[in-house]
Amino acid sequence: MSLSLALLLPAVIVLAGLLERVRPLRKAPATWPGRLPSNLALLLLGVVTDRVLQPAIALLSAWLAAGLGAGLIGRLALPGPVAVLIGVLACDLGTYLIHRLMHTPALWRLHALHHSDRELDWSTSFRHHPFEKIASSLLFGLWTVLIGIPIDAVLIGLLTISAWDTLSHSNWRMPAALERALARVLVTPQVHALHHSTLSGEADSNYGSILLIWDRLFGTWRAGDSDPAAFGLSHDIDGLEGRLLPMLHLPFSSELHTGPSSTRR
Ligand SMILES: [Zn+2]
Repeated sequence: MSLSLALLLPAVIVLAGLLERVRPLRKAPATWPGRLPSNLALLLLGVVTDRVLQPAIALLSAWLAAGLGAGLIGRLALPGPVAVLIGVLACDLGTYLIHRLMHTPALWRLHALHHSDRELDWSTSFRHHPFEKIASSLLFGLWTVLIGIPIDAVLIGLLTISAWDTLSHSNWRMPAALERALARVLVTPQVHALHHSTLSGEADSNYGSILLIWDRLFGTWRAGDSDPAAFGLSHDIDGLEGRLLPMLHLPFSSELHTGPSSTRR
């Protein structure tokens, strides 16, 4: 079990890389020198937060909720498989809500590094500041206790969300018929690309991780019919690209506009 879990991340990266070569959505981005090495460095830093800290906090929270009989699902006494299914949906909703929170003034500085990528491919999914990961892990733990998400659902939910996150950031095009069928319910690469637009109206949409029902329910869904004109922040930050230390310093940078994407100029 632990070996297959350890192999999931490289397997998804290889799959995303293959899909990008076979069915590119856009012209392949310039990745070397600079952009790819710095995104890969963040991937390595993220092994601690994504693969150790986040699962540990989430599973501990699920164990705590089960022990205390806490949370909505715990109180409903649902049959096991139903509780797991609802729990997995709750994981997806939780990541949607946390992503919305990351776009508020209080947390935007932690999330801005993810949006600072001027290209979009599989490596963008790992371009997160460690402080953002710590904050989102704590928020997800809190959500797990509040909802009473079962341990099995936390495991399935986190693994699925993590794998799909890499695929939805990747630069690959689904077959047209499949895209038409899925793009109204599922976060496809074309749908998620809009969220990385430099334009606030587009960046403030499509926050979902796997399902689009939350965006539709809360009014943040936009059809990803066409690519944004450009990816990244609405303003340039000098000396950021390809330099790990300035990237890690970004939350404290005076050059970063303090507002969330909705108030960016
Ligand atoms: Zn975002």
